[in-house]
Amino acid sequence: MRNATVWAGMFGVEKSTVIDGVVFEDESESIVVSVRPRKGAKQRCGLCQRRCPGYDHGEGRRRWRGPDLGLLRSFLEADAPRVTCRDHGVVVASVPWARHGARRTERLGPSLMRRGSAHSHLILRRPA
Ligand SMILES: [Zn+2]
Repeated sequence: MRNATVWAGMFGVEKSTVIDGVVFEDESESIVVSVRPRKGAKQRCGLCQRRCPGYDHGEGRRRWRGPDLGLLRSFLEADAPRVTCRDHGVVVASVPWARHGARRTERLGPSLMRRGSAHSHLILRRPA
């Protein structure tokens, strides 16, 4: 799906993340991207990345702040299940788009600042 590819590129999640949908949320004036890890990236310890048995659904859906898109904020939203790691016990499973415990996506690091204009350009060129 072409649009999914565009969004994936903007968030830097193309390989191990599946994008289920993108919605504009009026209330918060944000773009919310529903994502989930691809099969091989699921059920991994958030600390050591080892594949682990599932524990529970954690606190349910969770959001990570993504890059600002012009005047709009963006969020990645996904389930945040917990797994049982033999070294680390019960921990929130790893997600490919953010470091363990981070509330922001990887793309929000300092290197993102330089990419801001490139992303705006991408949005302007996005087919309707
Ligand atoms: Zn672990």
